[in-house]
Amino acid sequence: MKVLIDNGHGENTPGKRSPDGRLREWTYSREIADMVVAGLRKKGIDAERIVKEDSDIPLSERCRRANAIYKETGKKAILVSIHCNAAGSGTSWVNAHGWSVFVSNNASASSKKLAACLCEEAESLKLQVRRPAPKQPYWQQNLAICRDTNCPAVLTENFFQDNKDDVEFLLSPQGKDVVARIHIEGITKYLGL
Ligand SMILES: [Zn+2]
Repeated sequence: MKVLIDNGHGENTPGKRSPDGRLREWTYSREIADMVVAGLRKKGIDAERIVKEDSDIPLSERCRRANAIYKETGKKAILVSIHCNAAGSGTSWVNAHGWSVFVSNNASASSKKLAACLCEEAESLKLQVRRPAPKQPYWQQNLAICRDTNCPAVLTENFFQDNKDDVEFLLSPQGKDVVARIHIEGITKYLGL
């Protein structure tokens, strides 16, 4: 099984940063993506980033890459897209906070299971998880990276880049470790390893 990690956005994406400019989503998601790939490989799990460029690669191209690998591997790939949430326009701090996971409206049972595994891991780490309903661990949205990929696919929104406490946590060494761990352990659980 190959784990594909998609890191959101690029250095040329406007906005997508904390109001104080300390966190930029494109660099942060790449840093976490590298930690996740390294952590999975350490466990003997094949993993790679599908966006190695620093620029914002269009969603259509990212889906094309994922689908090509899914085909090459004989349908043995899954995808996790890593992001940080935002509730405002990026100019001021907001109250919204916490971690959440998304699947597309046309999500397969496998995508939903992968999302549930990640959510379970986040909750076992005592993190505040945002759920649409108490019994539903994931949100469903019309997300191209999940909708247009053939493999099981989820998107994580790792806390809010415009919440002051979340940004402090995200930028701390402990916070980075925890965010990476949600993915590493959640994916491991999904794979049944
Ligand atoms: Zn994003």
